[in-house]
Amino acid sequence: MKAEGWGRFPRIDGQLVSGWDEMAVLRRIAAGGSMIACGARRSYGDASLNPAGMLSMVPMDRLLDFDPATGLLLCEAGVTLADILDVFVPRGWFPAVTPGTRFVTVGGAVAADVHGKNHHRDGGFGAHLAFCDVMLADGRVIRCSPDRDPDLFAATLGGMGLTGVILRASLRLRPIETAWIREDIFRSSGLDETLDLFGRLHDRSYSVAWIDAFATGARIGRAVVMTGDHAGLDELPAELRQAPLARTVRRLPAVPPGCPSWLLNRASVRAFNEAYHRLARPRRRLSALDSFFHPLDAVPAWNRLYGRRGFLQYQCVLPRTAAAAGLRRLLAETAGSGWPSFLAMLKPLGEQGMGLMSFPMEGYTLALDFPAAEPVFPLLRRLDAIVDDHGGRLYLAKDARMDAGMLRRGYPAVDRFQEIRAAYGSCGRFGSLQSRRLDL
Ligand SMILES: Cc1cc2nc3c(=O)[nH]c(=O)nc-3n(C[C@H](O)[C@H](O)[C@H](O)COP(=O)(O)OP(=O)(O)OC[C@H]3O[C@@H](n4cnc5c(N)ncnc54)[C@H](O)[C@@H]3O)c2cc1C
Repeated sequence: MKAEGWGRFPRIDGQLVSGWDEMAVLRRIAAGGSMIACGARRSYGDASLNPAGMLSMVPMDRLLDFDPATGLLLCEAGVTLADILDVFVPRGWFPAVTPGTRFVTVGGAVAADVHGKNHHRDGGFGAHLAFCDVMLADGRVIRCSPDRDPDLFAATLGGMGLTGVILRASLRLRPIETAWIREDIFRSSGLDETLDLFGRLHDRSYSVAWIDAFATGARIGRAVVMTGDHAGLDELPAELRQAPLARTVRRLPAVPPGCPSWLLNRASVRAFNEAYHRLARPRRRLSALDSFFHPLDAVPAWNRLYGRRGFLQYQCVLPRTAAAAGLRRLLAETAGSGWPSFLAMLKPLGEQGMGLMSFPMEGYTLALDFPAAEPVFPLLRRLDAIVDDHGGRLYLAKDARMDAGMLRRGYPAVDRFQEIRAAYGSCGRFGSLQSRRLDL
């Protein structure tokens, strides 16, 4: 069958079997050969692709246990954050970390050690795990945590499925009083002001900036910065206090399968960026949880907007000290290339945490979207050189093209990661197109 990630590039033919339960996972592993587990395929590139064998963990989707005293939820790897929100928001609980879409599985969130808009304060997904159960190549199931088999835990967190199949995880939810976010919106006129705003607003729980990637000269890095905190019951107007935990989920019509790529063109996106920046009035407002955390989820299949050739998301992180200079060069290079990114987001990140291959480092992460067109690849190689020059790295969950040299320069723990994989018998058994490209 055909398989692809969220970016629809690359697209492969491969064998996909379903992990209905632990026995089905064991049977697939016992069948031998190279394989990779996959979740909801919200990673953009080739991390969940392997022509020789793919194991979908989506069917293992049971919630197993919840302890309101600790907020710990035990669930199977195929449970999505959308499932968790559906069940737990009405009961006053929210995931400690959520990425920009709720349609990811818990297994995928662990394997990529995903970060949210609160990484600078709360760390990544892995920082809120009590443990996870991993099935190894010999069929053993190891319950690993920061204290038990910590090596396996550290390699699994952010390890992109290369240690084994994550079966279950115990993750911490946080209590909330309402399904609303107190959101503050700021507008900046250039990069220095954007970074200054992030610095001044460091105590906000959630922070993110939309960047105008078409801006040049002194306006490079101009942004709409959005911060948020969970709103308390006493902050809601009377009409919302009747049902403070009721969600408001917007759903627009899906983008149709044959959507032509010319819909997203430079002129239309430039006009949109200009209007978006101009119309973003600095203000405070109450935002519904779903539109604050997952705005793109309102448009089903929005990844079709780039047409059949698909698209790439270039997400890098630069250390704090090098961020201003590096971001300026990255944005100038893209704006001047004739291939400005259609969507550009900037977020502050905190420390890496325990995952050896986890993406975050203390600094800023910039995410840029490009069509997967031939002339874009030389531009991305120039961006790679800038990221390298500034001591940064690329996010494996978005990557479809980085080379092994760049991985090694950006991820200094890669040898340790490989040693642990070898010790647990994972090398040669769990692999993806991405791991092959990266010599892992
Ligand atoms: C609109 C959008 C916004 C996003 N925003 C963010 C963001 O803000 N922050 C962020 O960090 N990420 C973000 N992402 C990326 C996404 O969170 C990650 O790619 C996540 O890993 C996807 O989970 P998945 O279930 O779709 O996994 P897949 O894409 O299917 O797989 C991702 C990786 O996890 C591995 N994997 C999946 N399940 C298992 C399992 N059970 N056992 C072992 N390995 C497994 C796969 O092998 C693969 O390497 C975003 C993606 C989209 C589409």
